[in-house]
Amino acid sequence: MRIACLGMAHETNTFQSVPTTYEAFENFELLRGEEITSKHSTANSTVSGFFEGAGRFEFDLIPLVHAFTGPTGTVTKDAFDRIVGEMLDALRTSGPFDGILLGQHGAAVSEEYPDMDGEIARRVREVVGVDTPIVMCLDLHSNITRGMVEAVNATVVYRTNPHLDPKPRAVEASEILVKTIRGEVKPVQWIEQLPMVINISKQPTELEPMKSVMEDVRAVLKRPGVLSASCGQGYPYADVIEMGVSFVVVADGDKEVARDGAQWLAERTWANRNLFGNDTPTPKEAMAMALSAPVGEGPTVVMDMGDNVGGGGSADSTHLLVEAQEQGAGNLLMSLFDPQAVQECVTAGPGAQVTLKVGGKTDTLHGEPVEVSGRVRAITDGRFEEPTPIHGGFRFFDYGPSVALDLSPTNGLAEGNTLLLHTERGVGNMTRQQMYSAGIFPENYRVVVAKGVVSPRAAYEPIAREIVLANTPGVSSADLNAFTFTHRRKPLYPFEETAEYTPGMIIR
Ligand SMILES: [Zn+2]
Repeated sequence: MRIACLGMAHETNTFQSVPTTYEAFENFELLRGEEITSKHSTANSTVSGFFEGAGRFEFDLIPLVHAFTGPTGTVTKDAFDRIVGEMLDALRTSGPFDGILLGQHGAAVSEEYPDMDGEIARRVREVVGVDTPIVMCLDLHSNITRGMVEAVNATVVYRTNPHLDPKPRAVEASEILVKTIRGEVKPVQWIEQLPMVINISKQPTELEPMKSVMEDVRAVLKRPGVLSASCGQGYPYADVIEMGVSFVVVADGDKEVARDGAQWLAERTWANRNLFGNDTPTPKEAMAMALSAPVGEGPTVVMDMGDNVGGGGSADSTHLLVEAQEQGAGNLLMSLFDPQAVQECVTAGPGAQVTLKVGGKTDTLHGEPVEVSGRVRAITDGRFEEPTPIHGGFRFFDYGPSVALDLSPTNGLAEGNTLLLHTERGVGNMTRQQMYSAGIFPENYRVVVAKGVVSPRAAYEPIAREIVLANTPGVSSADLNAFTFTHRRKPLYPFEETAEYTPGMIIR
């Protein structure tokens, strides 16, 4: 049994001014054939799960093309044409295949296609024809569209946020695909799209209100005849018509089973819609909470939601650093993307005392550069490895030449503050290895600023005294009213309180 896997996964923040180019994929991850095997066969990603599935269900996996890059602005037409062109060429020349595993994200937007994932799925279907089953894996932050679901036989979405389950979900997708090829099951799907947004601050699946939603999903999974059940939480920073929460249920041959499951999930979530909004503290309140916590019980981790690197943030926001200075913070740790500052520190050398302006250099949304003084503690190559499963299943990281800078008690700060400066934007603060690799122990700090909402949780929950979400400004601000949407649906709750849901609603 020959099964191909391929995909071009991107979470597009359409409010980000930096477009996502072919080079952006190339710089992060644009892999072919054996390159995919060597990078993913032992990791914890979606593609890793396809390899695991191949072993478990005894099929030959032929990895074709896998493209991925961190959340940035709209994907250029050039990047779409070249990468999708290569994917489809590989599909044509390496076939025929008994089935296809498609690893997408579900929130990609290109210059031409607001539903980029749907367009890719449609083109893959066009190449392989209606008789070759396709199963698609999506990220939980997907704005799932009718186009995506209609182009494939089954859709399987992560069920954890932070994303600790890309691999088991991909194994689940592999099993559905293999059983479909063998004629043991006949997947049918139903998508139910609620006119509603789940605020980014309410998206962690281990916390309410999402915890109950995922319990409902697991209840549907246990229903007779259900092959898979999913919630697409939605990605609010992609300004597209389908932006919002949706439910997809895959049943064996019986569309009513799929529909009943999806509509039950949608109705239950809709009934609690007032629980999914933003009620997080301001940066000032969040920093004050962190600084008033007792010392010696582990750090209070302040999430910089406006600079969610995993959601398109610039990774150099200074809003919380300014707040730290204004409130006289001590024993605080944060990372910043700042190639210029790294260069200045490298030039000064290890042990040197420097005064420089850090952060706030990428755009106008993430604060101004801030003056600090300090001693260059360490210079590293910014590379590290995280062997345990973390958000998204990443393992190898490269933040470029990096500097640990111990700040002096000047510019309003107290003792014991440390900055970790990087030359590459990276993927936020997903793993403590980022700090350990520079000789920094976040356990010893009173406050750790983590750029993100959910992705740092797997790294920091084990050591945090408390996690505080800060409603900071920025490209991924939890305050959705700060953005001007032009393509989203109207009415859409909570933007329009009058929004109504009727089962079976069709967006387009
Ligand atoms: Zn995600």
